[in-house]
Amino acid sequence: MPTKMLNFSTAQFLLSAPALRHCPPDQGNEVAFAGRSNAGKSSALNAITGRNALARTSKTPGRTQAINFFALDEARRLVDLPGYGYAKVPEAMKKAWQKEMSNYLGKRHSLRGLVLVMDVRHPLTDYDLSMLGFCAERGLAVHVLLTKADKLKHGAAKNALLAVRRELADYPGELGVQLFSALKKSGIDEVRAVLTAWLGEGAAEAS
Ligand code: GDP
Repeated sequence: MPTKMLNFSTAQFLLSAPALRHCPPDQGNEVAFAGRSNAGKSSALNAITGRNALARTSKTPGRTQAINFFALDEARRLVDLPGYGYAKVPEAMKKAWQKEMSNYLGKRHSLRGLVLVMDVRHPLTDYDLSMLGFCAERGLAVHVLLTKADKLKHGAAKNALLAVRRELADYPGELGVQLFSALKKSGIDEVRAVLTAWLGEGAAEAS
């Protein structure tokens, strides 16, 4: 466990990539965030960076289907991947989205890991399993945030945590699962420590 956390409050909107070829140069280190619509991904990003306006940027019209990049410094980025919503999404759009995601998760060299945000009450949806499948192909490190943990009693949340850990025990790479609540601001240091380990300590260190 690193002793010093990166300073995530330096996060600044960098660019919005409508397709993989529009992404910034594939250099340095980045960590991507994914989650089914409404899982709580924006709230998690805001809580982790302490920047409330940050993930709102990803929700502005024209950017919801894009890959949105936030720079911590010149060598480190957080990446907000587009989620798709409920069953209503047309099949063709779902296919196009899956192709983009499998390309990005499968081929992006600077990608160090994926934070997969799930509502603790509805974990491991089809969306989550697709994302895990794309990551498994290259054994990419995954950290699961079971968010909205405040919605469950302590025991029920713990059970959900253990069940997801058990379910993902065969994942072919580094895999962590934790409880999180953007509302109660719980689990923030735990995920920040994972991000710090993945992105590397250095220039953006907090003093
Ligand atoms: P996104 O679509 O995945 O970016 O989800 P949002 O972050 O916009 O959150 C979706 C809804 O869940 C909003 O109404 C949030 O206020 C709520 N929400 C997000 N995180 C939490 C949390 O930790 N606890 C509770 N109780 N509600 C949350």
